[in-house]
Amino acid sequence: MEASATITHLRRIGRGLVDVVLPPRCLACGETVEEPDALCGRCWGGITFFAAPWCASCGLPFSHPMGEDAVCGDCARERRAWDRARAVLRYDKNSRGLVLGLKHADHTHVAGAFGRWMHRAGGEVLAGADILVPVPLHWTRLLQRRYNQAALLAHAISAAGGPPVAADWLVRRRRTPPQGHLGPTARQRNVRGALAVRRGRSFAGLRVVVIDDVMTTGATVDECARVLKAAGAEFVGVLTLARALRTGA
Ligand SMILES: [Zn+2]
Ligand SMILES: [Zn+2]
Repeated sequence: MEASATITHLRRIGRGLVDVVLPPRCLACGETVEEPDALCGRCWGGITFFAAPWCASCGLPFSHPMGEDAVCGDCARERRAWDRARAVLRYDKNSRGLVLGLKHADHTHVAGAFGRWMHRAGGEVLAGADILVPVPLHWTRLLQRRYNQAALLAHAISAAGGPPVAADWLVRRRRTPPQGHLGPTARQRNVRGALAVRRGRSFAGLRVVVIDDVMTTGATVDECARVLKAAGAEFVGVLTLARALRTGA
């Protein structure tokens, strides 16, 4: 047996042993499930996974088919800095715990599953992409949290078959106040000028996909896209794990 085959074989045995001792748990609630990296039936049923038919530009789901190039009202009205955006699931009371789990250091194993979901759901954005760019955290916040959850997701997407990660190519020049309670315009003002391309890096002619955990108003990813386009990126896509929709949308 070749060395690599032996290792695979040993890993499989190892996995079997671990499964006997620790049955796989639901990623959201910790309930026992049959497959590793899965959700239990109840959690799965509560989460809204986005699917076509949807807005060609931002991926907002439509209630009925509108044609492949149809865009939603917001995309028809507003000029976005990015070219196309997709998200895996809706950010709401049912998915909040699952999504926020990424920010807890003892829960980062969920990133692997999320990366596979994002790779699958983001096909239209990832097609032909050269690199993934995680939304950067300011270094002071990175020190507090020890890792950037957007970078964790980007590496997981890459591991699932996506393009390589351009870690730290985009940097935060100043620390921005938390945006939790800010409206869309205030958020835009909050992030404006906060990001920059690291000296010596070039995005000229590249197809780039910005990765983040949650898209709320889109102000942060829009600012990332504006900076990337100004730095010469040919295409800027956005792929997030979750996306908040206005109530009733
Ligand atoms: Zn569950
Ligand atoms: Zn749209």
